[in-house]
Amino acid sequence: MRVKKIRMVGFKSFADETVVSPQDGMTAIVGPNGCGKSNIVDAVRWVLGEKSGRALRGKSMEDVIFLGAETRKPAGMAEVEIIFDNVDRGLPLDMDEVAIGRRIYPGSPSEYILNGKRATRREIDQMLMDTGIGKTAYSIMEQGRMSEILKASPEERRSLFDEAAGISRFKAEKMETQKKLEDTRQNMLRLNDILREKE
Ligand code: ATP
Repeated sequence: MRVKKIRMVGFKSFADETVVSPQDGMTAIVGPNGCGKSNIVDAVRWVLGEKSGRALRGKSMEDVIFLGAETRKPAGMAEVEIIFDNVDRGLPLDMDEVAIGRRIYPGSPSEYILNGKRATRREIDQMLMDTGIGKTAYSIMEQGRMSEILKASPEERRSLFDEAAGISRFKAEKMETQKKLEDTRQNMLRLNDILREKE
């Protein structure tokens, strides 16, 4: 699985539609200070589910929308789409190409799009789990992340190994099932109380 295209429109400094197409092997993005290199990384993090506007170097999530310039009005929407080559089925969908998108309008929460259809954040998270490219995975190594990993506690570091080994999904499912069991246990207790009252 690899990124074929990153398409941005109205996102941060990319007022007009801009497409970045990484090539096979290594791709470097170079340019003068402030030209938008880090904004491309922000775009990828945003699509992969970043929840914090601050982590994307803004005050709130709406700050990802192009805020206008002297000669340009602010954008009415920000949208980013990443197209993955999925010939190797690295993503658990039986498709050669998978498009994950996210868009936001001023004053509204953002929405996700999977292969052109509205999707929930949960669907995207579940699809990315164990692929190494989820928001909390290790595919984006920004400044300071390496030392963060080296300083992390064994438990925190373990989660990276879980992701690489492909067991994050099972751990998440186990936790969800345990929560459902606990909810059911609480419901049973409450029902028993009601039954006792009625008897
Ligand atoms: P450096 O090499 O200095 O790290 P860079 O190429 O990584 O720079 P970025 O940090 O990606 O640059 O881009 C910064 C630019 O993006 C700034 O000029 C900033 O004004 C612009 N920018 C950020 N958010 C928005 C927005 N919402 N609307 C318009 N422009 C924005």
